[in-house]
Amino acid sequence: MRSRGDFHTHSTASDGVLSPTELVDLVASQGVVYHALTDHDSTEGIAEARVAAAKHPGYTLIPGVEMGTDIEGAEVHMLGLYLNPDDADLQQMLRKLREGRVGRGYGIVEKLRGMGMMIEWERVRQIAGDASVGRPHIAQALVEKGYVTKVADAFDKWIGRNGPAYVEREKMTPAECVQCIVGRGGMACLAHPADLQSLDALLAELKAAGMGAMEVFYKDYAPETVQRLRQAAEAHGLLPLGGSDYHGIFGNTEPLPGNIPLPDSAIERFLEAASKLPGARAMQVSGRPGAAG
Ligand SMILES: [Zn+2]
Ligand SMILES: [Zn+2]
Repeated sequence: MRSRGDFHTHSTASDGVLSPTELVDLVASQGVVYHALTDHDSTEGIAEARVAAAKHPGYTLIPGVEMGTDIEGAEVHMLGLYLNPDDADLQQMLRKLREGRVGRGYGIVEKLRGMGMMIEWERVRQIAGDASVGRPHIAQALVEKGYVTKVADAFDKWIGRNGPAYVEREKMTPAECVQCIVGRGGMACLAHPADLQSLDALLAELKAAGMGAMEVFYKDYAPETVQRLRQAAEAHGLLPLGGSDYHGIFGNTEPLPGNIPLPDSAIERFLEAASKLPGARAMQVSGRPGAAG
């Protein structure tokens, strides 16, 4: 099924394979008229995508981002749409989110070095290999350099929860994320919510925080799933939105941009709401011709 809108896609600015230009060209060629670029924790692709967008009459680029947030035992992804990439506070927040992944390990290494244990961050990353850096890797680096005799000692003396080199991981809750997006004039939309536990409670909380939409017509969701999410969106007063989450990495089975059952009526409702957003008004990209300003 072809839709005129696709509000969730990735480029090389995060883990997609197409450059922002290639992505915009592909999306426009699919007949998508309203397209959001939503890279993970980054708006780095927006500037290039805007240049590419200018080549396609009738096509509208919506600047966005997909932010990773945490709840107990799970990650929740939040789309922020109509955010201004030149907003310094937004960039500061995105930097924090990006660094959160490696930041804690890096912070611990820095603290250790400050205390005279000169282990190298590069070496810690080598030890971790493909895994994300964790404290055991740092402990191993300490053993290698002879600062402790075994891994357990590193935890006991330095990097355990109450140790002098311990660093707490930077976390953001979905509600905090929604407040940030809304506070910067954008629209917050819960991404791929089908598998989240206690979805009703989460939706109520995020709606109260200012979230305006949730993904219902997502990539390859089964019709029953779409139906269930549609009802949930309705019940919580959230706009049902949709996206392909196109990355270009999953081969032939990956739906192309716009290949989602997102109906025109949902796009219209969304654009209507978006046209009132401070963010959309400021950048005059509300999408709907003539709605800006
Ligand atoms: Zn995601
Ligand atoms: Zn995504």
